Amino acid sequence: MSFYNEIKQYKWSDIGRDLKSRSRSDVERALGSRPVNLDGLISLLSPAAEPLLEEMAQEAHRLTIRRFGNVISMFAPLYISNVCMNRCAYCGFNAGNPVARLTLTVEQIEAEGRAIRALGFRHLLLVSGEAPKIVTMDYLKSALDVLRPLFPSLSVEIFPLDTAAYAELIDHGLDGLVVFQETYDEELYGKVHLGGKKRDYRWRLETPDRGGSAGFRRLGLGALLGLNDWRVEAFFLALHAQYLLRTYWKSQIGISFPRLRPAAGAFQPAHPVSDIDFVQLLTALRLFLPDASLVLSTREPASLRDHLVPLGITTMSAGSHTEPGGYSRESEAEAQFEIADRRSPEEVANMLREKGYEPVWKDWDSIFLTPGRETAAA
Ligand code: SF4
Repeated sequence: MSFYNEIKQYKWSDIGRDLKSRSRSDVERALGSRPVNLDGLISLLSPAAEPLLEEMAQEAHRLTIRRFGNVISMFAPLYISNVCMNRCAYCGFNAGNPVARLTLTVEQIEAEGRAIRALGFRHLLLVSGEAPKIVTMDYLKSALDVLRPLFPSLSVEIFPLDTAAYAELIDHGLDGLVVFQETYDEELYGKVHLGGKKRDYRWRLETPDRGGSAGFRRLGLGALLGLNDWRVEAFFLALHAQYLLRTYWKSQIGISFPRLRPAAGAFQPAHPVSDIDFVQLLTALRLFLPDASLVLSTREPASLRDHLVPLGITTMSAGSHTEPGGYSRESEAEAQFEIADRRSPEEVANMLREKGYEPVWKDWDSIFLTPGRETAAA
């Protein structure tokens, strides 16, 4: 049984109605309960929780420090190709957008990797659009082979693959898989994914299942905030994370919170998510999922990122480039979206230290799984 069977037991409209029916006492009961169950999660995500945000934030901070200490893991995304066959209405890489396209050569990937390593990072996230005839398995394996000596931890955020292909990539040093469902609402999913393989809701939804079966050590999830009612979306995202924690208990589950950013195509979010909404979402998920990594990207502005750090965040990117080739040279390729926090990794690390946190550039080494194998970066 995959998550598709589990999600079918819930109706989007029922959760929406339930959220609206919650009272302050429901929220107080959820705040006082350990662990917070699904019913409590609905209370914490409801409009009734807004006056209790301060209490939620304090509890989210306490839980995070107890489970993760005062460390923040740092990572950088490396965009290897912005060629894409899909037509996601919200994305600058949409096949219908007449933007400059670029797929890095393996040599260019290595140069980008060296530039990112020189910034301090030891955890890399490889990102590409969906173009399996260009970003082939052989290409991905070659990329991993040149990056593996530089980075003890390598993750991908690329198009969904089958379990056997993931297992092959794990053999080439990959330890993390990130795949955002964008929206868990199957009807809306069909409306914003206008063409290409990504239209297949179930194939995408079951991707973390295939990754978990293949043995990824890290599984990352997310919903694209702005597409839909964030409260209901957050419920299904949390349900998915809880299912994965239960089913693939050896994998660490990470949740990202991408808010829609300006990009080529000028897509406008139908359900904008305010900063206050963002805080409620973040803290509610922390209270429900005390063991999950919560990831904050450079999509958010510097001042907001600084304030969000103590509310449950465990993982951050910094100094990101969302255009292929952007770290090692001036790239003419289109960026996927505009980043908002333009500080250097060192500036972000200094901010964390000033707040009493320790930026950690490396918290994992493939040698843990393969005794006897040395990596140059270890
Ligand atoms: S979101 Fe991903 S799959 Fe969709 S158009 Fe952008 S790069 Fe392609």
